[in-house]
This record gives sequence, C-alpha cells and structure tokens, in this order.
Amino acid sequence: MEEVWKRLKLNDEEDCPIEIGKGVRGSMELKGERSLVGKIISERRIGKEVARSMMEKVWKVGKPLEFQEIGGNCYVITFVNRRDKWKVLDGCPWLFDSYLFVLLDFNGGLQPRLFDFDHAYLWIQMLNLPLSYMNKQMGELIGSSIGKVSEVDVQKDGLAWGKCLREKVECDLRRPVARGRTIVVDGRKIWVPFQYEKLHRLCFNCGRIVHGKDGCMESEGSIGQYGVWLRALPQNRRAAVKVKEQKGGGRGEESGDYSDPFHEVDDDERKGEA
Ligand SMILES: [Zn+2]
Repeated sequence: MEEVWKRLKLNDEEDCPIEIGKGVRGSMELKGERSLVGKIISERRIGKEVARSMMEKVWKVGKPLEFQEIGGNCYVITFVNRRDKWKVLDGCPWLFDSYLFVLLDFNGGLQPRLFDFDHAYLWIQMLNLPLSYMNKQMGELIGSSIGKVSEVDVQKDGLAWGKCLREKVECDLRRPVARGRTIVVDGRKIWVPFQYEKLHRLCFNCGRIVHGKDGCMESEGSIGQYGVWLRALPQNRRAAVKVKEQKGGGRGEESGDYSDPFHEVDDDERKGEA
C-alpha cells in the first residue's frame, strides 16, 4: 500500500497542506495519558474481547479496561487511571497465553504502522559471573551490548551476589536471542550464558521469539544451538524499591512480573530466593 502512495503524483489540491491545530486532538490527549498501545506477537488472530478479559485478570487493574483494535493483534489499551497504566508498563514483559505482549506508551501523534513492536524489554539472567563482578556496573556493561538497559536488579549497595545477575534489557525481536557474552577478566576468558524469563515461545531453529515452529524463514540450522536451556526460572526481585524513576506514582506491590498465570513458577525456587 505504502509503495502505491509513494508513486502517486499529487495534483495541487491534493498537495496543498491542511494545517491541523493542536485543538483538534481534543480529549484524545487526556485519554492518551491513560493509554498504552500493545501488540500480541502471534500468528494466531486474537480478538480484542478475548485479549481484554484475559489481560484484565493478569494485570489486576481497575475496571473497565478498554481495548480498541487498530491492527492485527494490535490495540490501544485504556486504563481507568494513569497509575494502573504505569504499573502495567513497568511490569513488562507480559504474556498473553504464552505469546509476548509488547507494550508501548501511547503516542497519538504517530501512525500505528510506525509503532515499534520490534523491540521489547526482557528480564535476562546472566550466569557464571565471578562474585566480585556481580554488580550494577557489570550488568550495565554486558547489558548494553544487547540493547538499552532499563534496570539491573541489585541490592542497595549495588551488589547482587547470588545465582545470577538479573537485568531488564531491550531486545531486538527481529534477531535471534543472545545466548551469552564472552568477557575477559584478568586475562581470563569467561563465557557468561544468558537465560530469559518468560521465554515461552522460542524458535529452536533460528532463536527468534517472534514466530512459532511453522513460521521459520531460516533454513535448517545446526541442531542444539537454541533450546529450553535458554529459559530461566523467575527470581524474586532483589531491590526492595526499584531505583528507576517512577512516573505514575507508586507501583503498589512488587513488580507484576510473576503474576501472570501462564508462567510456571517453581515455588521452591521462589522461596529459596526470598
Ligand atoms: Zn525460526
């Protein structure tokens, strides 16, 4: 369609710009402050009512939650207040029935086709790090080699001794998930493997999240390059209070990371970390 538009030779009437004042946006602006846009990354078509009733339960937000479909599996979601909106956005990533539900802040000035659903924040657990390097700085250093680091889960003193270093990083969904990084410490090469929380759908052939078994465009890769071992068990958050600036007021309880019913949470694992 866009290609067709580009080819058009506009006549004078068509090419004469109609200046649109800010007032035209009207109450959209206010509603937009309580809204997000989201896309369920699935080849299956999901109706807005199904999505709405499911996510209302998962997010545990005030009712009514509004879903307006603006494209295939793509919705404007309006919450009853801004606090709910930020709580949900903050709690990313979310899943709808094991499919990734990518959420963005509402931007009413942009055409829906320009929304970037190719990136999503995911919790990554970095393993095999020497204890003295399990800290915020290390998290940022390794994480930034993948994408924007939103958060490194450390204690108040910046340390995170434990089984892994957790961090929330923006990942490019068009690329295979990063399986780890090689670091050099005191001249010694160390492989730092990654595991991803809420990683239910992963193509074991090409390592991408965005399609299932049938949607793979890549020729048969070498066996065993991607697998269930990339899935992490959820860990409780270390930081009692999140360091990042809170935009919409309090976050209420701990992050909503584990409140979705589709994620198999291992109780022993959670107790162990508590
Ligand atoms: Zn694939």
